[in-house]
Amino acid sequence: MVYLDHSATTPLDPEVLQAMMPYLSEEFGNASSVYGLGQRARQAIDQARDDVAAFYGVAAKEVIFTSGGTEGDNFALQGIARRNGNRGRHVITSAVEHDAVLRSAEALERDGFEVTRLPVDRLGVVDPQALRQALRPDTILVSIMHANNEIGTIQPIRDLVGVTREASDAYFHTDAVQSTGKIPIAIEDLGVDLLSMSAHKLHGPKGVGCLVVRSGVRLEPQMLGGGHERNRRAGTENVAGIVGLAKAVSIARRDMDANTAHLIRLRDRLIAGVLAQIPRAELTGHPQRRLPHHASFLFEGVEGESLLLQLDMNGIAASSGSACTSGSLEPSHVILSLGYARDRALGSLRLSVGKGNTDADIDFVLECLPQMVARLRVMTPISAA
Ligand SMILES: *Cc1c(COP(=O)(O)O)cnc(C)c1O
Repeated sequence: MVYLDHSATTPLDPEVLQAMMPYLSEEFGNASSVYGLGQRARQAIDQARDDVAAFYGVAAKEVIFTSGGTEGDNFALQGIARRNGNRGRHVITSAVEHDAVLRSAEALERDGFEVTRLPVDRLGVVDPQALRQALRPDTILVSIMHANNEIGTIQPIRDLVGVTREASDAYFHTDAVQSTGKIPIAIEDLGVDLLSMSAHKLHGPKGVGCLVVRSGVRLEPQMLGGGHERNRRAGTENVAGIVGLAKAVSIARRDMDANTAHLIRLRDRLIAGVLAQIPRAELTGHPQRRLPHHASFLFEGVEGESLLLQLDMNGIAASSGSACTSGSLEPSHVILSLGYARDRALGSLRLSVGKGNTDADIDFVLECLPQMVARLRVMTPISAA
């Protein structure tokens, strides 16, 4: 199989599995227990927290372990709104966020908050001037993702934070699920107050992530129970998952330069090959300010879902829009936000490479894909409007 869907999930790194193994077997203690077995689990979590904090350049107490990106996004939006609703009831986000943010924003609207969704330009970028105009005295939170999962565009977070700081004391959250491990992230540089990430997008295990919360940020716990995570997120810690997450970020940091060069080379071969060999193909997202592993396209007159099936029959795993909405024939909200018509938006394909991909994988895709697109254009009824 040629796996080109690393924005959906990634294979577990063998080094990560090895680090996790003791905590899936003999080191099974509950980190809250007083005896040695429990205390060794506690030490493993403490070490993992230090590693994750070092990765982002924050203090260990600013890292809250979660069950992944979805929980981190929910926690950031709902936790900030519910704790700071007395200061104001206005939240700003963008039209291209992950569903975890968009659905959380809708839940806040049902509870009487007002939500502004900033538009993006044709390349998927949020304009800091538009944010400046949307900020109000009662804005308590701005949530704009670091990099987009469907089109790979990296947002100018530093500028967006700068504009926010000038005009208000709203908190700034960023969903860094796609960018973590792919591009350098120093939270001090970005200037954000909250950042969510997920281990399985960077060769870690599924079902674990973290929310970084800068000290002084007031956040209402969502998961109630014991006093875990300094009373901010109850529940017996996923020790093996947390250890795996820390190992995954440590490896990402150690290997980032070499990996980035490899990913960019494969990505650029893919983009150049597709655009040269397939007529009426267009790159979506920003041509330069995009994730190093991410290539996304629109093919006029083709339905992305049909293309996925053809690719699958040839052993190529890819995605059309986000995995969460695949299976339904609604065009992606992200592609629509770029300003494309509905029919056009249905022809989207995302190919996201990983460190395990080779030039031979790219050759294979460039061999198959042009014929598939040509065949589907003849077969499917989508008009080439
Ligand atoms: C995958 C993803 C999420 C969700 O993370 P999970 O750990 O799978 O819940 C959130 N945001 C973005 C941008 C993602 O790509």
